Amino acid sequence: GIRLEKLRKSFGATEVIKGIDMEIEPGEFVVLVGPSGCGKSTLLNLIAGLETATGGAIRIGGKLVNDVPPRDRDIAMVFQSYALYPTKTVRDNITFGMQTRRIPKDNQQAALEEFSQLLQIDHLLDRKPGQLSGGQRQRVAMGRALVRKPEVFLFDEPLSNLDAKLRISMRTEIKKLHQRLGKTIVYVTHDQIEAMTLATRIAVMDNGHIRQFAPPADIYENPVDLFVAGFMGSPP
Ligand code: ATP
Ligand code: MG
Repeated sequence: GIRLEKLRKSFGATEVIKGIDMEIEPGEFVVLVGPSGCGKSTLLNLIAGLETATGGAIRIGGKLVNDVPPRDRDIAMVFQSYALYPTKTVRDNITFGMQTRRIPKDNQQAALEEFSQLLQIDHLLDRKPGQLSGGQRQRVAMGRALVRKPEVFLFDEPLSNLDAKLRISMRTEIKKLHQRLGKTIVYVTHDQIEAMTLATRIAVMDNGHIRQFAPPADIYENPVDLFVAGFMGSPP
């Protein structure tokens, strides 16, 4: 699991994460929602180690990781922009992260086969990202995260570039993947339906604070304040 203790982050004089306490159980699917600029991506970047906290503690699997570099945190992140290498093939995009982690070649091959079949991109391995549709690129980014087999996955609006139909089918696939692999997921989205259908708990964030952290039905039926009610579209 992941434990955040009085976590703070400032950029210059501006504090954007204002003392967050949060305990995420192993295997949970936490969906993080909140208005643009409230600090969602910053929070994921702190957990991933792409940003350094200015206060507080981050523990992953019980271990304090504040000073642990991203590649040693047992985490994989999928960004909104996918960030694939344009000149590498799909195969090399997927296995690149494993090479840098020095995973043996046989294991790399086995993981590549397993997850490219699961994500239905096994027929695309020799193509370059420019020769793929948006949804296929999204699956490659997902495959690259999955083959590393981390304990924790961080997703930053991974489906926001997809059309409505693909978004719904990918949502179903992500849910199945979570049920099958049982890994801890923190997932940022602006899509209320995605939040309600995927989350074991939803964290509603506003201006650097977590306003409420509870199962979807609780958030919807018993919002703690008007902000949460308004944001989640709860009935008055
Ligand atoms: P969105 O929903 O639009 O993606 P967000 O909730 O992910 O928003 P963040 O990207 O975490 O928001 O940004 C939180 C605040 O921190 C914003 O005001 C943003 O301008 C600021 N910020 C983020 N990164 C930096 C940075 N590297 N330097 C300075 N300010 C930053
Ligand atoms: Mg963001």
